[in-house]
Amino acid sequence: MPDPSPGAWTPDRDSAPWWERAGRGEFAVQRCDACGTPRLPARAFCPACRTEGWHWEAAEPVGTVESWIVNRRAFAPGMAVPYVVVMVRPDAVPGCLLHGSWHAAREPVGGERVRGVFVPVRDGPALIGWEPVVR
Ligand SMILES: [Zn+2]
Repeated sequence: MPDPSPGAWTPDRDSAPWWERAGRGEFAVQRCDACGTPRLPARAFCPACRTEGWHWEAAEPVGTVESWIVNRRAFAPGMAVPYVVVMVRPDAVPGCLLHGSWHAAREPVGGERVRGVFVPVRDGPALIGWEPVVR
């Protein structure tokens, strides 16, 4: 498995709760207190109604593969090549696209159903990766 450690970074005011939950293996989204619109990544204002009130709520880490790339060059120390980075549209926030590592022995398929997995990294919180949903 590739080591996706991105190096040191500091979560910001809006994203810190997401990273804390990710570290516990929990997928969560912000939900607007006024209109109920889910959003991810975290931000201070609702993109639908511009209000500031929100809360975090746990969500199923499932989605659909939109696209992917096969990296043949390591962009961080310790990463074995080649490796796949997949772009997923999560069910919980249809307007969001999340990138993550791919966890299967084959390449993804466009439109494939996937489930999120949290991958611990050095010097930071867990990052989300994706694996095929086995039916
Ligand atoms: Zn709203």
